[in-house]
Amino acid sequence: MPARSRTRWTVALTAAAVLTLGCGTLPDPTLPEDPTSPPTAPQTTPTAKVDGTKTVAEFQEDAKDAVDLAESYWSAVFDASGVTFRPVGAVRPYRDSGDLACGREPIPADNAVYCPAGDFIAYDADWAVTAFRRIGDAFVFYLLGHEYAHAVQARLGVEHRYGIDHELQADCMAGAYLGDSVRRGDLSLADGDLDEFRSGLLAVGDPEDQPWFAPESHGTVAQRTDAFFSGYEKSLKTCGLS
Ligand SMILES: [Zn+2]
Repeated sequence: MPARSRTRWTVALTAAAVLTLGCGTLPDPTLPEDPTSPPTAPQTTPTAKVDGTKTVAEFQEDAKDAVDLAESYWSAVFDASGVTFRPVGAVRPYRDSGDLACGREPIPADNAVYCPAGDFIAYDADWAVTAFRRIGDAFVFYLLGHEYAHAVQARLGVEHRYGIDHELQADCMAGAYLGDSVRRGDLSLADGDLDEFRSGLLAVGDPEDQPWFAPESHGTVAQRTDAFFSGYEKSLKTCGLS
């Protein structure tokens, strides 16, 4: 298991509302899956490390580790239930609004999404690197863990009446993926990484005046933090999947 090499502290967010997650809001299940993105082969359990510098190369390494770890985690969860897991088809960084589309809907800048129509995760690369630098590397593991959770929800056929319930469940599942990975020794957290999760959730919470039932609602900071740490501390049994 990798060891912590240095201690970091999160950079204070000065414009938390700049960071939003619009994930899971762009379904177009009538379109065929993208033929250019075959599922990746199952991998052996990676040992990831939440630690490092703030370079783009480090971000890319963390992003790959986060996805590999999520794939390994969910594959094991499905295996334990006797169900074959199909990994997410692709992870696609993009730069500008409209560079990618989910179905026929352009994916906006400054965001991260899971697109069921093409079975891919997409994120604005510049936005994600900025968040990585402001909040810390743990944010990347949360962000991609949340989007990967949406892919798992899709595989399980999970549906909710309100979008906020879908989003809070994904936060819980992201927490479970990270907490369980730490408990199993597949992920090494550093001092300050839990604070980075909190800072990330602070950044992606809905504005206080946003109605909870609005289609784009993901949950307030308190709701998202509670959901994430419930999963982190108590694993999947608290995420309402069964
Ligand atoms: Zn989401």
